[in-house]
Amino acid sequence: MSQIEVLQESFEERYTVPPVETVRDTPDEIRRKQQRVRELCAKHNAILLAHHYQRPEVQEVADVVADSLKLSQAAAKTNADVIVFCGVHFMAETAAILCPDKKVLLPDLRAGCSLAASVTVEELRKWKAKLPDAVVVAYVNTSAAVKAESDYCCTSANAAKVVSAIPADRPILFLPDKFLASVVARQTGRSNIVAYPGYCHVHKTIRPEDVLEILDEHPDIELLLHPECGCVSSCMAKAADGTLPQDRTFFLSTEAMLRHIGQSPANEFAVGTELGIMHQLRKKFPEKEFYPVNPNAICGFMKTITLDRVVKSLETMSPQVTVPQDIARNARRAIDRMLELA
Ligand code: SF4
Repeated sequence: MSQIEVLQESFEERYTVPPVETVRDTPDEIRRKQQRVRELCAKHNAILLAHHYQRPEVQEVADVVADSLKLSQAAAKTNADVIVFCGVHFMAETAAILCPDKKVLLPDLRAGCSLAASVTVEELRKWKAKLPDAVVVAYVNTSAAVKAESDYCCTSANAAKVVSAIPADRPILFLPDKFLASVVARQTGRSNIVAYPGYCHVHKTIRPEDVLEILDEHPDIELLLHPECGCVSSCMAKAADGTLPQDRTFFLSTEAMLRHIGQSPANEFAVGTELGIMHQLRKKFPEKEFYPVNPNAICGFMKTITLDRVVKSLETMSPQVTVPQDIARNARRAIDRMLELA
């Protein structure tokens, strides 16, 4: 796998991470607000979709809690008139592309994504010009405009499957996550993947030292690492040379983590991803123990969505996310291919 020339020195200049607000609602206030959300959803025939990284009280009021792939599938098949997307902007855009006749609400427009911000459509066009016969595979964490310039879309749950479906002799431009690209290259055995050097600012902070430390404290633990983590290349190498237990080290999307835990006889898991996933893990598997690899891996973008903002969004039917028709048409091709391979 090779990496492209960096067109921009620092991706950090492109986004502002909102500070994580502390919500001090009492259990009664939470219940009252959740009840209000349900009433408003019924009134507007709305469905509420929430990502695993959302606040627990938002996950608890959602109709579907899942990863990006499952949420796209839920959006594609819903009969609701309104989709309240409790996630980030690119996810709401994907829902708007899949459901052009529905209103898609994103309760806080500050809910962006550092990974999506790391590649622009202009950069992708320049990159494509350098490798004109390459197939472009865009991670779902990209803007609709970038998806519209791509051949395939993928999520961490099906990236290897998407890449495997591309003829072996075709070079692949994989964007924007360099860590996911390295996992996909390893899983598929493809050497002709050219990776864009983007990353998620949250997952990047999950370091190899954190993994070794937690393994030191809990020697029998299973390691579940999201492929966006900054530690994945080092951990893949360490699992291969035996420094990490190969049979207890897994690189999984959030949805795959849930599936894996349900089937694993292990009782202790080190979880390398955004902290919001802990809510579903502890709820679904109360008899098992979970330890975050980095307890500070919190996404400020995801946490902008609070119950108050969901209520306000449903009361005002705003902010709405829309995608221009020409971009939506082209982006849909790449998204549909992803859903076909899901
Ligand atoms: S955790 Fe990272 S990839 Fe996910 S929404 Fe936040 S910034 Fe984007």
